[in-house]
This record gives sequence, C-alpha cells and structure tokens, in this order.
Amino acid sequence: MQEREVHIKAVFFDIDGTILDCSGAGKKSLIKATLEVFGTIGNMKMVDFQGKTDPVILIESLHNMGFSEQSIAEKSGALKEKYFSYLEKFILEHDSRIMPGVMEIIESLAGNDRVLLGVLTGNFRESARIKLDRFNLSAFFKIGVYGDDAPVRNGLPPVARGLIRDTLGLDIDYGDMTIIGDTVYDIDCAKNVGAVSIAVGTGWADRERLLARGPDHYFEDLRDTGRVLDIILS
Ligand SMILES: [Mg+2]
Repeated sequence: MQEREVHIKAVFFDIDGTILDCSGAGKKSLIKATLEVFGTIGNMKMVDFQGKTDPVILIESLHNMGFSEQSIAEKSGALKEKYFSYLEKFILEHDSRIMPGVMEIIESLAGNDRVLLGVLTGNFRESARIKLDRFNLSAFFKIGVYGDDAPVRNGLPPVARGLIRDTLGLDIDYGDMTIIGDTVYDIDCAKNVGAVSIAVGTGWADRERLLARGPDHYFEDLRDTGRVLDIILS
C-alpha cells in the first residue's frame, strides 16, 4: 500500500494548560450553565477539573445532589447549548493566553506531511473549537477526540486510533503516537496504550507529581521548540 511507505506520526495535544489557558472562562461558563439547567452546581466548585472529561466533571459534581448519570445525560443538550454560548462570551472577556512555543510547534507540525496533528481533550468538541478559535488554531488540527467520545480519558487514544483508521485509512501504531499534556491523566492515557508521553509543566500540576508518573519526556514549557520538535519527530 502506498501509505505504508510513508512513516506517519500522530501527535495529539491536550488543550487546557497545554496549548492555552483561558483563565477560568471555561469553569465559569460551565458553572453558570449547570446552575441554570440543573438548579444547582452540586460539588462543582470542589471538583478537580484537571485531566477530566467534561461529562465526568458533570457527573462528579451532581451525583450527590441526586442526579443519576441518565438524568444528567438527558439534560446534556440544554446544558451544552448554554455552556457554549457563555464560553463564546467569557473567553473574550478573560485574559486567555497561548502557552510559550506552542504556536511555533503547531505551525511546524501542521506543515509537515509526515505528521498527523490532532487534539485529544476532555473538552466537548464544541468547547474545544471555541477555545482553539480564540487563537485561530482550529484549522491546524486535522483530527480530534473529545470528552464526547469516551467517558474517561484513557478511552480516548483507542478512539483516536480508530478514527485515523476509519477516516484516513491509516493504521498508526501506538508507538508512533505522541500525546502531549499537562496532567498525570495525559501521561496515564499515553502509557496505557504504549504511546509516547510528553508532559509539560504549564498547567496546574506540580512538576514532582508529573515526573513521578514516568512520562517519556518532561518540559517546564515548550519554548525550546527545536528540542521539542526533535523529540516529537525522532
Ligand atoms: Mg490539560
């Protein structure tokens, strides 16, 4: 097969804390939408959002208020509609920033025909788009797997592999897949399938905790773009 002769690497970026920081606009939007749709936010202010999919954040926040997973799922359409519309608004009002080096790395990888560039995130597909569009980044990513696609993050790499196979006809070994993220959950989901894990310290997790999880590579941030690209492409 023609495609077999070209060695393709798939590179997946997490969004929050890795590509960008929207300074709490996401959390604020989700809290406001949840309050309006469910009449309560339950535990949401206590829930650690890091590395979790949006559906899991909702379940953890609301289950002690008597909402079953099914009752949360039934209202998810209404919730998403409000959440996305608040996010569109708040993301412009908050001091969002793109992390150091990320723009250059994304541009370089997107222009490399040996690389398939994607996002792998716990965000809903639409909230991911809104966040990426804040910095005109959506078009760089050929593929995406989202919180809508699997209930937990460890389920996302297999979805990504299947999606690449179904949409592009490429069977990418997990060893040719790199997952870049700012939490232990990004590291876990890479290691779980044997993908290459790059942890980055631009999120909220402390360095010792990330290193203890054994990522293949660790960077304080991605500003040393030459070195980061060498590792990704090696
Ligand atoms: Mg993150």
